[in-house]
Amino acid sequence: MRCSYADPHLHPNPVKGLGGEKIASKSKEANIWILGFLSLPPWDYELEPTLRNYEKIIDMIVKECRKSSGKGVKVKCFSGFHPAEVDILIDRYHLKPLEVLELGMKVLALIRDKCISGELDGVGEVGHQHYRTFSDRALISHKILEKALEISKDYGCPVQMHLENNEHSTVALIHETAMKIVGKPSRQIVFHHSKPSMAVQAYEKGYLSTVPGTKKPLLEYLFARTPPVYMLESDFVDDANRPNPVYPWDIAGMQELLLREGIVDEEYVCKVNRDNPREAFGV
Ligand SMILES: [Zn+2]
Ligand SMILES: [Zn+2]
Repeated sequence: MRCSYADPHLHPNPVKGLGGEKIASKSKEANIWILGFLSLPPWDYELEPTLRNYEKIIDMIVKECRKSSGKGVKVKCFSGFHPAEVDILIDRYHLKPLEVLELGMKVLALIRDKCISGELDGVGEVGHQHYRTFSDRALISHKILEKALEISKDYGCPVQMHLENNEHSTVALIHETAMKIVGKPSRQIVFHHSKPSMAVQAYEKGYLSTVPGTKKPLLEYLFARTPPVYMLESDFVDDANRPNPVYPWDIAGMQELLLREGIVDEEYVCKVNRDNPREAFGV
């Protein structure tokens, strides 16, 4: 039994970085079978945040996914409206809170249409600010998250959520919201950038998570202490000017080493890299 690796959460950028195709080729070489590509906000592509440009970005990520799928790796394609975008649109671009809500809902409508047509596989990132912000902005982010869950319910597409990662409340609050909107938990509703303890809580309630896999000692610790109820993500932001990224192939390489050293067994690695992504992305 031998399983390939997975990176369900990264952000390709053909404008400032390697772009999807190169990422997919290098991932293929590192024995990665599935990648989750998520779009970035307009300014990361040197674009102003207009609805028209959001539409361009959705088209761009769809194109990146399509081109990259030809490289022998499965690519799952996501676009969303990141909670931090709410704050940046108000602080840097001087939109009014209600204008941000309206823009976010329109962007989500575009994403819904692409999920229906099958060009996008899911919605992400959406969620909550992981830092302190104003209550109206937090509410706007939450309303956008609710819209994403509605789309997930209606069209069966996965959602990747960026959340505050509070061990005492995050999973319970999302579970409550999901029960209200979707009616039942789903492994396709994914807690991204999850703490290991939160990943366990989320799994117990019927969800999946992605946990950052940045360094070998961290992986060692994670494997030793956590059951294989999550996926590993790089959250790689593809930008030549951003320092010290963790690449998807780094995570694959570290797992390869830990397997060879006997620190983790194949069954565990297969659950994290094969079974869980299959469930999360409905492969
Ligand atoms: Zn995030
Ligand atoms: Zn991310």
